[in-house]
Amino acid sequence: MPKIVIIGAGIVGCSLADELTERGYTDVVVIEKGKLWNPGGSTSHAPGVVFQTNGSRTMAQFARQTVEKLHSLQHGGETCFLKVGSLELATTPDRLAELHRRAGFALSAGINAWVISSEEALKMHPLLVRDKLLGALYVPDDGIARAKLGDEAMGERAISRGARFVANCEVVAIDQSDGCVTGVQTTQGSFPADIVVSCAGIWGPKIGSMVGMSKAIQPLAHQLCYTAPIPELSSYKTEAELPVLRHQASDLYFKQRGQSLAIGWYGHRPLPVRSEDILSCELAEVMPSQMPFTREEWKGAMEGAIEVIPALKNSEIVESMNGLFSFTVDNFPLMGEWSGLKGFWVAEAVWITHGCGVARAMAEWIINGHPSLAVHECDVNRFETHQLGSLHIEERGAQNYVEVYDLLHPLQPMESPRPLRTTGFYQRQQELGGFFLEASGYERPHWYEANAGLVARYSSPPRDEWSSKFWSPIIGAEVLTVRDGVGLFDITTLKRIEVTGNGALEFLERLTTGKLKKPGSITYCLMLNERAGIMSDITVMRRGERDFFIGVNSNTDINYLKQLAPDTVHVRDVTPGTVGLGLFGPKSRELAQSLTRDDLSNETLGYFRLKNIYLGHVPVMLCRLSYVGELGYEIYTTADFALKLWDTLWQAGKKYGLIAAGRGAFNSMRLEKGYRSYGTDMNSEHNPHEAGLSFAVRKGGGYRGAVAFNEVNPNALSRRLVCLVLENPQHVVLGKEPVLHQGNAVGYVTSAYFGHNIGKQLAYAWVPAELSTQGTGLAIRYFDRDYPATVGQDPQYDPQMKRLRS
Ligand SMILES: Cc1cc2nc3c(=O)[nH]c(=O)nc-3n(C[C@H](O)[C@H](O)[C@H](O)COP(=O)(O)OP(=O)(O)OC[C@H]3O[C@@H](n4cnc5c(N)ncnc54)[C@H](O)[C@@H]3O)c2cc1C
Repeated sequence: MPKIVIIGAGIVGCSLADELTERGYTDVVVIEKGKLWNPGGSTSHAPGVVFQTNGSRTMAQFARQTVEKLHSLQHGGETCFLKVGSLELATTPDRLAELHRRAGFALSAGINAWVISSEEALKMHPLLVRDKLLGALYVPDDGIARAKLGDEAMGERAISRGARFVANCEVVAIDQSDGCVTGVQTTQGSFPADIVVSCAGIWGPKIGSMVGMSKAIQPLAHQLCYTAPIPELSSYKTEAELPVLRHQASDLYFKQRGQSLAIGWYGHRPLPVRSEDILSCELAEVMPSQMPFTREEWKGAMEGAIEVIPALKNSEIVESMNGLFSFTVDNFPLMGEWSGLKGFWVAEAVWITHGCGVARAMAEWIINGHPSLAVHECDVNRFETHQLGSLHIEERGAQNYVEVYDLLHPLQPMESPRPLRTTGFYQRQQELGGFFLEASGYERPHWYEANAGLVARYSSPPRDEWSSKFWSPIIGAEVLTVRDGVGLFDITTLKRIEVTGNGALEFLERLTTGKLKKPGSITYCLMLNERAGIMSDITVMRRGERDFFIGVNSNTDINYLKQLAPDTVHVRDVTPGTVGLGLFGPKSRELAQSLTRDDLSNETLGYFRLKNIYLGHVPVMLCRLSYVGELGYEIYTTADFALKLWDTLWQAGKKYGLIAAGRGAFNSMRLEKGYRSYGTDMNSEHNPHEAGLSFAVRKGGGYRGAVAFNEVNPNALSRRLVCLVLENPQHVVLGKEPVLHQGNAVGYVTSAYFGHNIGKQLAYAWVPAELSTQGTGLAIRYFDRDYPATVGQDPQYDPQMKRLRS
């Protein structure tokens, strides 16, 4: 059994000790620099308000597990969770609409929630204003986590199973040898360890620097006040009975504390603090994570508060603080084993709301090698290099603080710093009027205004105000032009690696489900975990006997392969040094052929084959595949040739009516063809049969996950990814909406787009297997409307692959 040291006894550390010891991993030492069970971190002073609803299913599941665990936990005869329910308030029509959307997120994650009228909200919370309120989102299972009590309960339970908690003991260094953790140095001596888990909250960056790790975490001060008793609450005798409240339009939340209210406020300017500058337990006035209240920042808070709770007009603030907690560059926590040091794990930037769920996933990950929930959004190794710079961390952390309650469209890109990364085609894309969104820091065109003239020829159904944000009818015109002719897509932002060296083939065949045929072949395959959950889908281009070029999904994939590669195999991220263009459409071969003497006929360069050739003067790897379901090529070259490659194709393309097409067209086309997108359509919670990807798994075994995969009975699945066709082509959905059957939520949408060739609105969705047969009638809830949809053929476009193979 490994020796495990956990740094920090906040909600995450205590819960992790509990989860590990529950699973029989009892050689656990929790080292805490403060005193137990009030050590002075964020958990020690936070009000513990829990709203489970989240646009990320994983985060919502973490919250659900936290509520379930704390609610079932008693300490000293007291419950650790007050299930008082929650109300999110709307005082404007757009906020009311947003509440309906959020109700959809909740239902998609299996959380009971619905929008209620202002009268119903008033009945639940008598302090609320009568006239301004338009409605509220009610989640009966939300409430208040009594986190300190929970820490004590979980901590003592872990101790009773053999764990040790060492208080007033600060970790000052991490010991390592040969790239592996060996222990920690503390103010009370050293503790040996095979695994160290940093659950240090706002001190996370400081612990990270002990091992040379930059953590994308920014501690920020957040204002929290408590009022004096409010006469209107004088009849309340218990800690809390009223639902917790959020008034997002004014950046406020509230909870009852007996006869007074706690008011939290995100409306002030961001107040970043460096992890290294946080005061020690000895020097801090109250506790390290509490900084003195800055009154000038509070301006405006009470105005917004009184707007929804008029009784606050005469109330006095009796307690106030600038409390510290963490924000990250992308709003997700940091979880998992850091690729820079074996045995060094992190679980940080976690709210109390998600604390117990995160800890459970961490324990499963440490013990089984994978958590049961999909955690790719939270993986500590997910970041792009630029996201780990201190300026970026501070700026993005601060901006995410500002936007925490903002109404954000799913396609809303970060606004600053932009442009940050550009591909070698950027100049030409700008000249064509590219409308850019951001992906991995790159500018990525969604459509091109230069194609506006095509709209008259190819029309798209109109969209409502919300779904027409970051959208243009040009997208549809681009799709249809490519289907008839040929289009140029920038695919540079998709990640690429090289895997080379002695044993590369054996290594890849061990970790992927593909049969990697001879040099010159291309294979689409999967990486599975031991449970046969899909960790990624990848495209392997075999350039030589020991030379592979692979399209992967994320840095997590790259780190995974790097960690497991034997010494003779080299895994290298070549994304920034290379560029990729997709040349797709029925005229793509003619166009490419016009630039080379090499034979590109179907007989010589068939589907899923590759060739190193020159297009004009540009050396390229020409790969016969396309993610959009048309005849075509992915073309790769080094970054220095980018402009020349674009210009060469553009010049030659004039004869064939070549257009540049954006990511919008790409998404619409891939969905019509039924091509899944990893992380959106499927993840590690799903096996290949469920996701409709068993064709990508080779027969037999010998790859990771084979035993579990071969045990799956494809005729006895509990759920499936299906293609839903909406009854009305004008009914647009965007993804993450709940799927209903006879009025009950039974699944959720992953990706959705209008299929321009087939003239139908499509939505891929997870549904129970018994509802997955073609023709089954379901509905998708979009805001407050239920759109009828039917399980359709998958894929809808060219199921015989005639166009791709032509
Ligand atoms: C004002 C305020 C209000 C909030 N309200 C809510 C809310 O309503 N709902 C919600 O979900 N979240 C809320 N949060 C956020 C939430 O409090 C935190 O995200 C959460 O408590 C973090 O838990 P943790 O266990 O990761 O960190 P912490 O609770 O900070 O625990 C980390 C522990 O690590 C210890 N430690 C650090 N470095 C060392 C070292 N070198 N050696 C030994 N020990 C070390 C610290 O002493 C600390 O006890 C709020 C935060 C603030 C500031």
